Amino acid sequence: MPDQEITPELYLMGAGPGDPELITVKAYKVLQRADVVLYDNLANKALLDFTKPDCENIYVGKRPYDRFTSQERIHELIQEKALSKQIIVRLKGGDPYIFGRGFEEVLFARSLGIRTHYIPGITSMQASGLLDIPLTHRAVSEGIWAITGTKKDGSLSDDLRLAMQSNATVVIYMGMKKAAEIAATYLDQGKGNVPVAVVQHASLPHQQSATGQVKDLPALISANHLTHPALIIIGWVVAVQEASPKA
Ligand code: SAH
Repeated sequence: MPDQEITPELYLMGAGPGDPELITVKAYKVLQRADVVLYDNLANKALLDFTKPDCENIYVGKRPYDRFTSQERIHELIQEKALSKQIIVRLKGGDPYIFGRGFEEVLFARSLGIRTHYIPGITSMQASGLLDIPLTHRAVSEGIWAITGTKKDGSLSDDLRLAMQSNATVVIYMGMKKAAEIAATYLDQGKGNVPVAVVQHASLPHQQSATGQVKDLPALISANHLTHPALIIIGWVVAVQEASPKA
């Protein structure tokens, strides 16, 4: 039976790209009050240090290509914890609503009558600035496309073909297994020489990256031993730093 005293609230919270200090003050304050935290693979575990000693921290990570905790199981946990916990935090890497399935959890919780709150996070592509890659730059890039490399059916988004026609920066999330296809798509359109950066573990001490031309993307990844989690950033913004005089 649900505890009559409990009016559970679910906080969908962005953990930021990795560096635990890149979380919002709002998120930090709610973490301190949390009774249970359901946290993802990409959320930095150091953030759990902000929780109360009696807060229950539950790992519900999903590694790519390996369905460890299913979305259904996460929903079940939200339902189960809502019976006894007041502040339920769902801590997700980056921003919960950017390729995070966060809104599915919100809709599910609302269907149970649970009050929900959203706390935005810095999405991982914003960490590109740490590599001196601005996502937009006057006269170089007029916008940004953030695209998934892996749709529900496992295929690369068709939007990539549209995106590459524009002057915008193209950022591909979950695209590492699609490197060859991405390179071929650009080559196909005569755009193989567009600069590309691959950044793994952005904002963390073990961050690694490499830059080159998009036609060489698979070789760039293997030569630099880059792997998940990584972002592929394609566009002339990647080369802006090389073009400008060094301070
Ligand atoms: N909600 C997250 C994205 C989840 S999808 C966000 O807003 O960032 C998972 C993908 O995010 C990974 O495949 C990778 O492309 C990207 N990603 C997340 N954290 C990253 C990091 N620290 N460095 C590089 N890529 C990261």
